[in-house]
Amino acid sequence: MKKEIFPSGEKLSKEQIVHYLNCDDDIELQKLFDLAKKVRNSVCGNKIYSYGFVYFTTYCRNDCNFCYFRASNKIERYRKSKEEVLEISKALIDDGVNLIDLTMGEDPEYHKEEFQSVLEIIDVIKGEYETPVMISPGVISNEIIDRFAERNTDWYALYQETHNKELFSKMRIRQSFEERMDSKTYARDKGMLIEEGLLAGIGESPEDIADSLLIMGDIKASQMRVMSFIPQEGSPMENFKTPTRRGELTIIALMRIMYPHVLIPASLDVDGISGLKDRINAGANLVTSIIPPKSGFMGVAHSTMDVDEGGRTIAEVKVILNDMGLELATKEEYVEYEKQLRSYQRYI
Ligand code: SF4
Repeated sequence: MKKEIFPSGEKLSKEQIVHYLNCDDDIELQKLFDLAKKVRNSVCGNKIYSYGFVYFTTYCRNDCNFCYFRASNKIERYRKSKEEVLEISKALIDDGVNLIDLTMGEDPEYHKEEFQSVLEIIDVIKGEYETPVMISPGVISNEIIDRFAERNTDWYALYQETHNKELFSKMRIRQSFEERMDSKTYARDKGMLIEEGLLAGIGESPEDIADSLLIMGDIKASQMRVMSFIPQEGSPMENFKTPTRRGELTIIALMRIMYPHVLIPASLDVDGISGLKDRINAGANLVTSIIPPKSGFMGVAHSTMDVDEGGRTIAEVKVILNDMGLELATKEEYVEYEKQLRSYQRYI
């Protein structure tokens, strides 16, 4: 029997989703955003969740065409020590984030050591700091996923970016679409919550996005993110244009209406702190990519935007949310929400 922890979402057909994605009627879109906000408020009240972002190695074996950190790009890279990762994690937790998002490129060094140091970091964050953790290690073996799951790692984030296989092969060069999908569904079956993501503005059609939105529901992603493509210096797509944000905002609103329970990020990585309000107004319920200033850690899509200026901090976010009549959730409130998500996922 389905447990009514969260309201049911709208069962939108592919045609209905495509209609909204093609819509250029401001009044109709505003109604969509208003409905999305109403749905979010019915689930979360005036609370918004927050994740601290710890991008601890920018080395990667892959060559994704849209990414600044792709292996072929001749850039300065870093690999932070366990102590540095724990220090920044603690600082973020003390500031008030609800979760630590441990992000990395597919760094061969970590594959060689079978993620032992990442597991040790998780032990401290989960054990000593009593804080939930998300990992984004890319595609890893089922054996390694088992080890993360055994450590009660809360989340496994692995973004397909598009579910159009042909486009995927142009974006994620020499990577397997199926292997990537299988890794996340395996992690989900092992009890981890999963985040799926898509990138808007990489040559996809509205039909592709509609397919992605439906697939995200089918695989029971508990967190769904969309980010607008940002051209990256030195990458094969550096001369592509970033799309207008209308697409990203419409996708956020559709996700919220279709899946009221999910966490939907308003990422500070795309437009910095100035992009927060619009994303929250479209139905997002989570602020991600919070990074302490002058920490030497980077973002992904906009690797340095607003970081050292202190624009990606809890203090900055709080001011904006409070102005909107919203509040940052405490860690305890987040943990309760996560518990409900887990319980709900077992029933759908
Ligand atoms: S998107 Fe991720 S996997 Fe692809 S090149 Fe960038 S860091 Fe590596």
